[in-house]
Amino acid sequence: SILDGMKDEEEEKEDEKQIKKLAAKSAFDKLQEDRKMLPMFPYREELLKAVEQYQVLVIVGETGSGKTTQIPQYLHEAGYTKNGKIGCTQPRRVAAMSVSARVAEEMGVKLGHEVGYSIRFEDCTSEKTILKYMTDGMLLREFLSEPDLASYSVMMVDEAHERTVSTDVLFGLVKVFLFNNGSVVMISFVKDITRFRPDIKLLISSATLDAEKFSAYFDGAPIFRIPGRRYPVDILYTKAPEADYLEAAVVTVLQIHVTMPPGDVLVFFTGQEEIEAAEEILKTRTRGLGTRIGEMIICPIYANLPSDLQTKIFEETPEGARKVVLATNIAETSLTIDGIKYVIDPGFCKQKSYNPRTGMESLIVTPVSKAAAQQRTGRAGRTSPGKCFRLYTAHAYQTEMDDNTVPEIQRTNLGNVVLMLKSLGIHDLINFDFMDPPPAETLLRALEQLYALGALNDRGELTKMGRRMAEFPLDPMLSKMIVASDKFKCAEEVVTICSMLTVGNSIFYRPKDKQVHADNARMNFHSGNVGDHLALLKVFDSWKETDFSTQWCYENYIQVRSMKRARDIRDQLEGLLERVEIEAASNPDDHEAIKKAITSGFFYHTAKLQKNGSYRTLKNPQTVTIHPSSGLSQVLPRWVVYHELVFTTKEYMRQVIEIKPEWLVEIAPHYYKKSDVEDTASQKMPKGRGRAAMD
Ligand code: ADP
Ligand code: MG
Repeated sequence: SILDGMKDEEEEKEDEKQIKKLAAKSAFDKLQEDRKMLPMFPYREELLKAVEQYQVLVIVGETGSGKTTQIPQYLHEAGYTKNGKIGCTQPRRVAAMSVSARVAEEMGVKLGHEVGYSIRFEDCTSEKTILKYMTDGMLLREFLSEPDLASYSVMMVDEAHERTVSTDVLFGLVKVFLFNNGSVVMISFVKDITRFRPDIKLLISSATLDAEKFSAYFDGAPIFRIPGRRYPVDILYTKAPEADYLEAAVVTVLQIHVTMPPGDVLVFFTGQEEIEAAEEILKTRTRGLGTRIGEMIICPIYANLPSDLQTKIFEETPEGARKVVLATNIAETSLTIDGIKYVIDPGFCKQKSYNPRTGMESLIVTPVSKAAAQQRTGRAGRTSPGKCFRLYTAHAYQTEMDDNTVPEIQRTNLGNVVLMLKSLGIHDLINFDFMDPPPAETLLRALEQLYALGALNDRGELTKMGRRMAEFPLDPMLSKMIVASDKFKCAEEVVTICSMLTVGNSIFYRPKDKQVHADNARMNFHSGNVGDHLALLKVFDSWKETDFSTQWCYENYIQVRSMKRARDIRDQLEGLLERVEIEAASNPDDHEAIKKAITSGFFYHTAKLQKNGSYRTLKNPQTVTIHPSSGLSQVLPRWVVYHELVFTTKEYMRQVIEIKPEWLVEIAPHYYKKSDVEDTASQKMPKGRGRAAMD
């Protein structure tokens, strides 16, 4: 009868539920078993004892021991979350996201509830969150609102060996605000001097063995070493230098795939473009291999990879197939991928470099250090003996590679850091207890720049402008542009432009077989030669008019994913406007107002056209060119402001607008004199200037 049928269906559903429950339970049980297999596990009790005994502990253990995923869980299990959260910082956003997802899974909770992550423009935490993974930059920002980190019982500064600027500054701030280590004199407005934290625990974890430096910095804090389990790795060098390391890497992958025993491959590249190029070549070349060769599963991993694709690298490789992970140096120590047997190391990474004399910052492909090369090699021997193919000669390793990477704080613009320290009331930057101090020239540059932007007064004190700027999680020039937009009554537009610039260069999409169509679509947004910033504004506003249509993005060769990210960023920035009392005014047709607001932040980046069609930056003259992707690359306006410089074959200005030179004196009187912007005066270049650019 009908009734019987219904009952059966119900029963079936019930059975299905039971089966699912059992499957989930066995997956959960397996995860718990896996946790006990990690090298960290036998040291659980000993570690907990050490944490109880000491306020600061340096923890050293090989990548993959379980430091990041296990230590916060152990502490939680031992009750440390009763009186506060456990924080764990990561230098990279992808790591914060991926590791927190794993820990949520291990604890059987939903990501964002008890376990969450916080990265710039994305907060996946809630009231419930007790284990919080975050980028080190986000923790720095938390200091602004909570300098004693009152809501935390434990802070774990993870991947300390990476020595990012944020981690280094965090260390200094911890000393000032949590430990009160005789640095008190440096703080000018001490809200409540007794509020240091004898109760908070600070863990510093590192994957490299030179932990003594961290220990010494924290007054001889004890070092807890977790013995690694590592299998031997054969290191193979090339006989002669490789002319094209990408090609060499691809060939090596194919050779391993065709001739070597099972085991996954990890290749280190310098960035997304290289990874995508390698992926494409590998796909084309494996097509012809036939069915006798096993399947090759290619998994890219880099900072901007969407999170749904990030989980793919952790999936188990099916029998007979081989996984090939194409990674940036995120896979050096931040993420552990099980099953890697072969590592290919071309020996390069992308590194920030900064010239305080010219104030120019750039990303440059540089040889890695010996320490980094050793880390990369180690990834091949985690679960069985492995091989590492170094695509450079043994001689190059010995003679051309530095022992260690120079800490980022010594090769980056510190405008951000200085603004933050000033907002925290720390004035004496020269005597701030940096683990490795930045060059004095770099600090001076940052002070000068903040002064020119109006963030500091002539005594180096924070101004109201500076205080407002510090509210935005952006570089000072971008923050200034937003704060300045208030005066020009175009905050809505400037916030949009800012969000689009922050997303980076992944807005427009240019498929190989449809380049002409894509370029035409792109040029539509440039009509009237409005300049790249205004074109970005037009893209966003047009998309908004279609009610954020995905179809519209396809038709216009625009990456919908990037647009959604821009929208998220925009929402957050807009939320901050009110906090700093900026009126959300809109004035889309007044291009002059919008460009003046942009110039208020970016007047440093002014360049003037030369007779030969190249440009010269105004102060600290350098020869630069408009990037071919710019809407103005054929227009060549006389005066331009650019967003950034990228060095490929030459120095290119990316994202450019045309300006009037008289704006510079009006907008940045601390920086430009009338004589700087007079057309005739700069045609005859004074002798000294031409030489300065050459050395
Ligand atoms: P460490 O911090 O010491 O380098 P981790 O705690 O990151 O070690 O890693 C411990 C184990 O957890 C490794 O076997 C790693 O493969 C696994 N793991 C970490 N993150 C993930 C993830 N997102 N998905 C699957 N496994 C993961
Ligand atoms: Mg880790």
